[in-house]
Amino acid sequence: MKLVVSALSAGYGNSRVVHDITLMVGPGEIVALLGANGAGKTTILRALSGIIPRAGSIRLDDREMIDVSARDIVRAGVVHVPQGRGTFGGLTVGENLSATQTGSVVREAELRDKVCRLFPILRERWTQPAGELSGGEQQMLAVARALMLEPRILMLDEPSLGLAPLIRIELFETIRAIAADGIGVLLIEQNADLSLKIASQALLLSHGRVVASGRPDEIAGSGIIEEAYLNHA
Ligand code: ATP
Repeated sequence: MKLVVSALSAGYGNSRVVHDITLMVGPGEIVALLGANGAGKTTILRALSGIIPRAGSIRLDDREMIDVSARDIVRAGVVHVPQGRGTFGGLTVGENLSATQTGSVVREAELRDKVCRLFPILRERWTQPAGELSGGEQQMLAVARALMLEPRILMLDEPSLGLAPLIRIELFETIRAIAADGIGVLLIEQNADLSLKIASQALLLSHGRVVASGRPDEIAGSGIIEEAYLNHA
C-alpha cells in the first residue's frame, strides 16, 4: 500500500500549523520526518490519523482519505503510535496484546506469535503488568499493539524517546525488520543521525513546511539539517 500526501495543511482550531506538505511512503520504506521542536512533525501524523482538521489530499493507493474518519483510517491500515506510548499500565503484556480485537481468534494468535518473534522480551514479560516494564519494553509493547492491527503504514512518534542508547539501537533494528516485512513506516525521531541510518527517504521540516527532502545521503552532511534546527531557535 502506498501513502501519497500532497498539499496537506493542518492545525488546531482556526490556526494552520503545517502547510503544503508533500510526502510519499511506499511498502517497506522508512520515511523519516526531521525538524526542531515545534516544527510540525507530530501535527502531520495527527492529520494523517484523521484526529485534527486537515485539507489537501491523502491518498492510500487509489483511495482519497482526506475526509475519512480516524476509525476508518485505522481500518484502512494506517496506524499511529503516539508519543508517550499508550499502553494499559494495569493490564498484563498478554492482555495489552489481546485488547486490539482482530475479530478472529486464530488470526490473533498468529499475530501475537509474530510480534513476539519481533520482540522476544514481551513473551518473557507476558504475565507482568505493562506499568512495571522498563521504558524500552513499554515502547516495544506500544509498537507491538499497533502491529496487532495489521498496519500497512505504521506511524511512529519518537519511539526512542528516553531510551538508553543500546535499547534505542535494538528498537531501530526492529523497525527495520518491520519495514522489511513490507510495512511502510513514517518515523519521527529527534536523533537525526540515527533515523537517517535506517531511512530510505527523509523530510526536513521547519516552521510547518518541508524545507528539504530526499535520500539520507542527499540530506546528511549538507548542512541543511543543522540550519533548520538552528533557525528554529
Ligand atoms: P515536538 O518534537 O516538540 O513534538 P513537533 O515538530 O512534533 O515538535 P508539533 O507538536 O507538531 O511539533 O507542533 C507544531 C506547532 O503546533 C507548535 O507551534 C505547537 O505549539 C502547536 N501545537 C501542537 N499541539 C497543539 C494543540 N493541541 N493545540 C494548539 N497548538 C498546538
